Amino acid sequence: MNEDKKVCLNCNRTDEQIPLLTLSFKSEPKYICAQCFPILIHKIHLLADKLPGVELPLTTDN
Ligand SMILES: [Zn+2]
Repeated sequence: MNEDKKVCLNCNRTDEQIPLLTLSFKSEPKYICAQCFPILIHKIHLLADKLPGVELPLTTDN
């Protein structure tokens, strides 16, 4: 796996396939596509394994 390749955190599409947004997490660049961006906002727990140590919002519904 090429670590320098820009791929979406969630769907692994590259910036050859879809525009990616650049994020910064723990001073490391991360990328997510516009389609997956709402997941980052609303369902960040789904990305927790991609963002080790990310702070998850407290939720009452499980
Ligand atoms: Zn994506």
